[in-house]
Amino acid sequence: MATIRFEALEQISKRHAKLVEYPSNKASDYFGINVFDKVKMKKYLSKEAYNTVVTAAEGGTGIDRKLADQIASGMKEWAISRGATHYTHWFHPLTDATAEKHDAFFDMNPAGDIFESFDGKLLAQQEPDASSFPSGGIRNTFEARGYTAWDPSSPAFVTGSTLCIPTIFISYTGEALDYKTPLIKALNELDKAAVDVCQFFDKDVTKVISTLGWEQEYFLVDSALYHARPDLSLTNRTLMGHTSAKDQQLEDHYFGSIRPRIASYMAELEIESHKLGIPLKTRHNEVAPNQFECAPIFEECNLAVDHNQLLMDVMQKVAARHDLRVLFHEKPFAGVNGSGKHNNWSMSTNTGVNLLSPGKSPKKNLQFLTFIVNTVKAVHDNTDLLRASISSAANQHRLGANEAPPSIISVFIGKKLTQMLDEIENAVPEGKMSPEEKTTLKLNIGKIPEILLDNTDRNRTSPFAFTGNRFEFRAVGSSENCASPMIVLNTVVANQLKEFKIEVDVLVEKGIKRDEAILQVLKQYITYSKKIRFEGNGYSKEWEEEAAKRGLTNIKSAVKAFSAYIEKKNIKLFEKNNIFTEREIEARYEVRIETYMKKIQIESRVLGDLALNHIVPTSIRYQTELISNVKGLKELFDDKDFKELAGERMEVIKNISRYVTSIKKQVNEMIEARKIANKITNATEMANAYEQSVKPFLESIRYNIDKLELIVDDEMWPLPKYRELLFN
Ligand code: ADP
Ligand code: MG
Repeated sequence: MATIRFEALEQISKRHAKLVEYPSNKASDYFGINVFDKVKMKKYLSKEAYNTVVTAAEGGTGIDRKLADQIASGMKEWAISRGATHYTHWFHPLTDATAEKHDAFFDMNPAGDIFESFDGKLLAQQEPDASSFPSGGIRNTFEARGYTAWDPSSPAFVTGSTLCIPTIFISYTGEALDYKTPLIKALNELDKAAVDVCQFFDKDVTKVISTLGWEQEYFLVDSALYHARPDLSLTNRTLMGHTSAKDQQLEDHYFGSIRPRIASYMAELEIESHKLGIPLKTRHNEVAPNQFECAPIFEECNLAVDHNQLLMDVMQKVAARHDLRVLFHEKPFAGVNGSGKHNNWSMSTNTGVNLLSPGKSPKKNLQFLTFIVNTVKAVHDNTDLLRASISSAANQHRLGANEAPPSIISVFIGKKLTQMLDEIENAVPEGKMSPEEKTTLKLNIGKIPEILLDNTDRNRTSPFAFTGNRFEFRAVGSSENCASPMIVLNTVVANQLKEFKIEVDVLVEKGIKRDEAILQVLKQYITYSKKIRFEGNGYSKEWEEEAAKRGLTNIKSAVKAFSAYIEKKNIKLFEKNNIFTEREIEARYEVRIETYMKKIQIESRVLGDLALNHIVPTSIRYQTELISNVKGLKELFDDKDFKELAGERMEVIKNISRYVTSIKKQVNEMIEARKIANKITNATEMANAYEQSVKPFLESIRYNIDKLELIVDDEMWPLPKYRELLFN
């Protein structure tokens, strides 16, 4: 065993599960202790200041300077009491991570006196020198400056010794440079559109929020092994590694008993998350060895997105204390399951109704069906945009690759709901309904709660599945910012609801009763968007064929998937709903393809280095040993015995040469392919070149390395193997 692996494994064997005790058996005793929530605001702010923040948080008015000063001062006082020495605007640039730049609370006046300070101006807006964030060229053409501005709808919190203030991040000229700005806009559009439609059913509805409950899958790897794998440390995935003889075949990890070391990690993660107001509730072992999942109670979408971003940061920090590393990559290990981040999504009213949950009366159920059918139609009309929103170099290994979910976007609604939609389709006539028809339909619609109660069928192969009271967008990648799919989903549903309202109003104006008008439009939508519905096995070959027949797209190329962002029809959709200007969406597209290209470039470089510096020399060293062994045999034995004794070894010697030669040749070709790609000036074409002519080498070089791993002496092999990474 190579020294580095030996040392790493030795370190692990010395590690014992750190016993982590919960501060109290009741999370409610310390939940949100580090959040400047309504309770703390009430204590630290004047009534007027408190009311202003609460109104602003609900999308209301701006905050004037005087009140902002008061709020800042109360926030500072509270933060210092929680151990904060610094503050930062906390935002989501177009990278995989959050961003923060800390400033100390202390200040100095011209006389040199030191005092603690933090005022409304610093709370409300800052101008970080943000010229190094991805902007898709927005700041090249305008100014290098960017602004962060306070988002009062997501409460400030303290982590470590820093007060974090959630903010949006925009350019000097007002263009969004982050995920939060368009997300908030999409949520506002959904609010307006959904309230208008709810008004058909209930005049008391004045606000609709989008709800999100994400399920975060992840792998844990011992940090010593992680650091002994340059591919993991630099690309977050293994670029080589033969499958372990045993991995997930026996299905003994999923929901298995949680090992003490992992359980104590999870315990500390929960404590830290709860202190930050992240309502983690569920934890379990996932399918692959060393793969796990956690999920919170769902929250308003903007807050849930912030909490997921914050959680990913907390997960890594807590892991360090347990000598672990979290892998958020969608496919860190070939041959075993990858990780996703299921986005459970619904809409909920100020009257406490979940719009995707059937109600008790026919009227409530018609409302339920309205939102279901409109969502299905929105997905039907915008599959490519949804597909784009979850595309990345990492998620490409899951979607449409060896493993689920497929890259075909379809919707699963379950048998019973399918029957219900079929019934509407068949029972609603083109013209006026007879009183009998109305009664029968009403009766059946009224039955929905019953039928859904035992509607337990789940389809785990569908990328977008109805699960009883919400849709679950399962194709989202584990490392992704949920905002990306949530911007698109909320926008397309908002847009759809607006169209629906117009169509119903037109029929009502023609003298058709409103309920009937609603049913007629729903019927049209059901027929029109039928092809998006699929109840079968989404992983099967037959589905690919069937989907093609239906005319559904099956986009496997990430670069191609991104292009949906800049299709004319989609630019129009974003503009019409005030989410992105054309310039903003083009910039976003550019950031995504550039990021894609850079990730493949990094992987290609790392693989080339490892192949030439680690794998090839080690293999040759082992081959040299074999050669001297064979030479010794030749000296000792006569020709006949020698042939019998050394024959197999000579074959191994030859094979090593074959693999090594192939690796060297392909690394050189890969470098050449990179050189050609790097000369391309058009970003899309460059990303294309990386996808088409560089990326394939990652697989074919790896194939040869993995073969060598099986041959070369384990003591010499320089990298921790899958069996060590996945079972420690
Ligand atoms: P499963 O693995 O069975 O799909 P989990 O319990 O792991 O379910 O996760 C389900 C997630 O869905 C949780 O985060 C839960 O809070 C969330 N959820 C439940 N109802 C809603 C809703 N109305 N809107 C959004 N998310 C929801
Ligand atoms: Mg789920």
